[in-house]
Amino acid sequence: MDKTSRRESLEAQVASFPAKPGVYLFKDAKGRVLYVGKADVLRDRVRAYFGPTLEVRHIRMVERAERLEYVLTDSISEAFLLESNLIKQHHPRYNIRLKDDKSYPYVKVTFGEDFPRILRTRTLGDRSARYFGPFANAKSVDQSLDLLQKLFPYRTCKLNIVAADDGRGRTVPPSALPGGRPCLLFHLKRCTAPCVGNTTRDEYRETVEKSVLFLEGRYEALARDTKKEMQQASDALAYERAATLRDRLVAIERTLDRQEVHAYKGDDFDVHAAAVDEGDAVVQVFRVRDGTVVSRDHFSLEGSEGALAPDVLASFLRQHYAVAAAVPPEIVVPLPIPEVEAFEAFATERRGGPVRILVPQRGKKRHLADLAERNAKDALEQERVRWMADRGKTDTALRELADAVGLEGPPKRIECYDVSHVQGTSVVSSMV
Ligand code: SF4
Repeated sequence: MDKTSRRESLEAQVASFPAKPGVYLFKDAKGRVLYVGKADVLRDRVRAYFGPTLEVRHIRMVERAERLEYVLTDSISEAFLLESNLIKQHHPRYNIRLKDDKSYPYVKVTFGEDFPRILRTRTLGDRSARYFGPFANAKSVDQSLDLLQKLFPYRTCKLNIVAADDGRGRTVPPSALPGGRPCLLFHLKRCTAPCVGNTTRDEYRETVEKSVLFLEGRYEALARDTKKEMQQASDALAYERAATLRDRLVAIERTLDRQEVHAYKGDDFDVHAAAVDEGDAVVQVFRVRDGTVVSRDHFSLEGSEGALAPDVLASFLRQHYAVAAAVPPEIVVPLPIPEVEAFEAFATERRGGPVRILVPQRGKKRHLADLAERNAKDALEQERVRWMADRGKTDTALRELADAVGLEGPPKRIECYDVSHVQGTSVVSSMV
């Protein structure tokens, strides 16, 4: 099909689109998804792609498209969610999308168990569990969990430990741990060993609740409670327990001191800022809980050629909050983003309570938004150095391979054939 007739065909397809909310897909001649978008009024939105004012990347996308499809949704919020899922599934070339979006880690607290575990996971979906995240990398999650387990010992084993029905909440060691001996974690003081009935269900769960407060960043409340408990233990001459609580208090206060910014008394909000340069983009995220910046993460994006920071930020927010374990009541950004009302409605539905986007002009939140922006620029520069080094490494390896096997230049494509057989019969082979 030539360029003109392809465009006419697309425009004819748009004419049959309904004036309802939903998600639209641009596909190429081979059926590959080039772009996924969402719209309150499908027909009007998709028609705009054939108007005079288009971004360069959208002009290119329309030039390659052959087919248009849509999926109706009940609301624009549902369309946001579906758009995000389809981007994750198809990785459309012309969408701004998260890099490595399949692998972002979460922290999971398995509240469905009598003696909950706290672990790193990459999948959501257990309704009885509580999740935190997503976080940008597994290493920082492991470091946090390492500290957490030292402060609030919890089990990580897969034993099925149930509370006995003796009315006193004792555990049932015989069914849980043959031999009745706890593992090394108990001796390292990283688990209170419910497997051998060393703790009651209520005591154990109280500690897990404290871990959750720590994960939420409620450091000040935790420090207050720990101080009180320490005093009580000391008054009761329980010196060993008082010493354990003292060590815990010191670690919590140290964590609190490490947070550079804690001047937003009582506020819960997230701050996002984007840096974009030559098709690469990074979004910096600060999570502020109880007035303290409790985590800083940056996420890399791809597909942002020709896009501006507000578009990158808007795309990121949709994808991030579609999978975020928690949505705060306020989201701070350094500059206005497109379709803010639709996004607020979507985030409000996800949270189950009002969410607003704030673009502060002055004050502490403006300072934090600016700080996030500077961090995003810095992270982008560092990422680019890393990406270039990776590319450099690949180029060097390919040149060395070419020398080793006597090729004229580095190979552009490498095919490997794997052949298997059963004593010379039933031959099967595949190319990778
Ligand atoms: S001490 Fe017992 S409950 Fe704790 S991790 Fe080891 S086996 Fe599991």
